[in-house]
Amino acid sequence: MALGGSSDDIYPIRRRGLMLVLSSPSGAGKSTISRAILESDLDIAMSVSVTTRPKRPGEIEGKHYHFIDKTEFDLMVNRGQLLEHAKVFDNYYGTPRGPVMAALQEGRDVLFDIDWQGTQQLEESALEDLVRVFILPPSSHELERRLTKRAQDSAEVIASRMAKAADEMSHYTEYDWVIVNRDIDESVENVRSILTSERLKRKRQVGLGEFVKGLRAG
Ligand code: 5GP
Repeated sequence: MALGGSSDDIYPIRRRGLMLVLSSPSGAGKSTISRAILESDLDIAMSVSVTTRPKRPGEIEGKHYHFIDKTEFDLMVNRGQLLEHAKVFDNYYGTPRGPVMAALQEGRDVLFDIDWQGTQQLEESALEDLVRVFILPPSSHELERRLTKRAQDSAEVIASRMAKAADEMSHYTEYDWVIVNRDIDESVENVRSILTSERLKRKRQVGLGEFVKGLRAG
């Protein structure tokens, strides 16, 4: 190492946190992909939404969602505590602002499992930091199979989600990246590649100017 230390020591490059949004119709495999990313990458944290929908079996308060009632939800909206919020399938969902801001300030990335309405709202407030990924099922047959396999919802709910999936999917054009989830491992690898590329973007590497100045000065 040179006497004065490396440019890295003197002029550290920090990273500006990014907001990775994963959207898809339900049943496309988004939750499985999110889980795999979160388990293998310590630099990204999940944004835990609030919702007014009832808890499903196996869901944990504070991990999958914060389950709240409509009064509390409205209060959060009125106090400006939600970064975005939307009505999806007759229930209300929203992203608490505080934890997201704290993570980004620490230079950590945040993963959002939100729908196209929420994504549009984030575009308005944070386009520069946003990385939008849309996940599609490989076929309508497979989508139906996955929705039926889940079996936590009633047949009526499944039928209604199948109908809404067609609408949801029309929004793929509003996303930067599109993954057709034919194979879960491959899809996870694809999301990892997206994350790696987006993290390397010049605008996300804070202090690069000083670092290069240091390199050039020798
Ligand atoms: P589920 O009830 O199956 O967990 O989620 C239904 C839909 O709501 C999913 O498409 C999911 O991405 C979306 N969603 C979950 N949390 C939020 C949120 O905080 N904001 C928005 N806009 N959509 C959300």
